[in-house]
Amino acid sequence: MTDNALEVPVVCDVCDTTTRVPLSDLPEAVQRHNDQQHDGDDIAQVDPEIVQHVTDLAAKDIGVAEDEA
Ligand SMILES: [Zn+2]
Repeated sequence: MTDNALEVPVVCDVCDTTTRVPLSDLPEAVQRHNDQQHDGDDIAQVDPEIVQHVTDLAAKDIGVAEDEA
């Protein structure tokens, strides 16, 4: 278990799997799964319950959060 890499659960309803991937690999991991397993269809996705949380974190990271100006 690594503390310095935030991992995000990617859920695939068709495969009935949940895979934790590092946030930095997230787009590639989702696309790779869908390309290889589902012929490019958008099936696997980030756990919806996590999306908002990750979006918040990412926004803070990038500095797009509320306290500009
Ligand atoms: Zn799948």
